[in-house]
Amino acid sequence: MRGVVKFERGSGFVEVRDIDERPPGPGQVKVEVRAAGICGSDLHIYHDTINYNIRTPVVMGHEFSGVVVDKGVGVSDDIVVGDRVTGEPSIYICGHCDFCLSGHYNMCPTRQVMGYYHDGCFAPYVNATFVHKLPDTVTFEAGAVTELLACCVHSVIEQCGVTAGDVVAIIGPGPVGLFSALVAMAEGGTVVLCGTSRDRERLAFAERELGIGHTIDVQTVDAVQRLQELSGGYGADVVIECAGAAPAIDLALEGVRKRGKVSLMGLPGKRVEVDFEKIAYKELVVSGGIGQRRTAWERSLKLMASGVIDNEKLISHQLTLGEWELGFQMMERQEGLKLLLRPDA
Ligand SMILES: [Zn+2]
Ligand SMILES: [Zn+2]
Repeated sequence: MRGVVKFERGSGFVEVRDIDERPPGPGQVKVEVRAAGICGSDLHIYHDTINYNIRTPVVMGHEFSGVVVDKGVGVSDDIVVGDRVTGEPSIYICGHCDFCLSGHYNMCPTRQVMGYYHDGCFAPYVNATFVHKLPDTVTFEAGAVTELLACCVHSVIEQCGVTAGDVVAIIGPGPVGLFSALVAMAEGGTVVLCGTSRDRERLAFAERELGIGHTIDVQTVDAVQRLQELSGGYGADVVIECAGAAPAIDLALEGVRKRGKVSLMGLPGKRVEVDFEKIAYKELVVSGGIGQRRTAWERSLKLMASGVIDNEKLISHQLTLGEWELGFQMMERQEGLKLLLRPDA
């Protein structure tokens, strides 16, 4: 079969190659991939600017949905051949460190992830360890985006505890920012979505299609002042930073109220200089979010099944595997929203 392979460390070194189709290992299921999401972190892997355990050559891709076609030894009877599933990127976790035992296995020091260390889903088949059945009402397209939604559920709900009535500023209207906005709205937060003039189309889309009440073009509007106006002069209760750029992190620290919460989801991919002492002066609670835990997967699937969050609204393009480069370039140019690869197309 053919897959999109990162074949060497460094910037670039990605191409479609012939790869071996392998049987599922112990505890794994083999999934025929129906849809796979291109993630911002795939660009970081492409450019080799990600600080995570990578082994080359590796088939890229960690967001997928598909149909179970084979089971390795030791897989629970709950999963059978023919099941429609999505799956977690984690292929291996140790199972006995503090993090694994407390359910925070996204922090397991020996965690190995598909698309980074093990072959991922930009291929017709992928072997996965942790799969979840898709609710009947959820399409393969929507299912392929569960991983991204679960990241946002983890950061917005589990890490930040957004509550009804909170003014939640979300910086960066890309797919992570938009899904975070949907999660914050589902929790009863009032979302203020911030972007640059370059994001004008995305901000308009967010107002028009997602019902996000407030958007700010930070290049034409004083965002800190606007956040204060919307929060009785205090600033946002919670800020979710999804842009991964120094000015965006500074805006987060400035736009949040004293004793407010900031969660960092964006990855600058390098050291950046920000006004760190604001964390002390304002007694901020700052958290990060990377990946997800099982609880976030379960909640995401419920939000999708009940229709509270419709992932398909954010899917803008579906491309064939051979068009991966076009997809990566579109992501880089911030064109479209969530892009899917279809190995079966
Ligand atoms: Zn991802
Ligand atoms: Zn562990």
